[in-house]
Amino acid sequence: MYKMDQRISGRTKLLGLFGTPVGHSGSPAMYNFSFWHDNIDCAYLAFDVNVEGMKRAFDAVRILNMKGGNFTMPCKNIAAELVDKLSPAAEIVGACNTFVNEDGVITGYITDGVGFVLNLEKNGVSVKDKNVVILGAGGAATAIQVQLALDGAKEVHIFNIEDEFLDRAKSTKAKIEERVPNCKVTVTALKKTEDPAENVEVLAEKIKNADILINGTIIGMKPYHEQTLVDKSLFRKDLVVADTVYNPEKTRMILEAEEIGCKVVGGAGMLIGQGTVNYKLFIGKEMPIEEFQKFKAENK
Ligand code: NAD
Repeated sequence: MYKMDQRISGRTKLLGLFGTPVGHSGSPAMYNFSFWHDNIDCAYLAFDVNVEGMKRAFDAVRILNMKGGNFTMPCKNIAAELVDKLSPAAEIVGACNTFVNEDGVITGYITDGVGFVLNLEKNGVSVKDKNVVILGAGGAATAIQVQLALDGAKEVHIFNIEDEFLDRAKSTKAKIEERVPNCKVTVTALKKTEDPAENVEVLAEKIKNADILINGTIIGMKPYHEQTLVDKSLFRKDLVVADTVYNPEKTRMILEAEEIGCKVVGGAGMLIGQGTVNYKLFIGKEMPIEEFQKFKAENK
């Protein structure tokens, strides 16, 4: 099974990942397994391309009539300038991580936020009319903020330390207010500290009124896995606590929230959610994710 010589034909369509580094990416294995499983005549490769190379890479996408693919760091912003059309979320964010080529017209999508919201839904959490606190204003957090607004969240309260991302949070607030005026957005600076107790005061009121708390920063991820931005005194049983970090699978924030009895949603499901959304955009059907996970476990 799964032999390349039996899979690739003269008509096989190419999809690919563009960015750098890409050598560690799990995407080729996931999509190629799915194409094989679903008997789809497509192949997915990873291409190590930097921002400077993206224009020429994109010419190749057109000349080779690639069916679709993904963009990862640091190419997500430049990609949004090279595609022909952008989805509403990608237009607001100004970046795209997925593209689909339909008869020569290339549309860019940003699916990080869709994947995150889909994973919340899979865990029984709807964002409609909800009051959300989100920490971070980088790539992942911005995509989630925009998707929360597009999916009907009532309030989105953004917290970020005073680094270059704080301005990005302010610009996201302005863009959401213009495009989705029913969603109230605030931006507040956090103190940069390894002791979450130092930020209790600044976070307390917004978390008290929130339904969902999301960490969209790198804090919690290795090598910051011993840190958290939220003091556990701020958790209460009826707060949903979600993380974008998937390595480790359970961050310190998630473990402490679990101790208090909060419903928790880890970052691994966001990754799968994104893959599912992308596959549907590429192929028009559900990705065989359970079968892929089984295949991976059996072929470790
Ligand atoms: P980014 O570099 O674009 O953003 C980094 C964010 O972390 C910014 O908001 C920055 O202010 C914040 N930050 C950095 N140092 C900090 C500190 N000392 N204290 C407080 N905040 C700090 O990164 P990104 O691509 O948006 O990734 C953010 C997180 O999202 C990462 O942990 C990544 O693993 C995760 N992520 C998960 C998925 C998934 O599918 N689960 C997808 C993309 C990203």
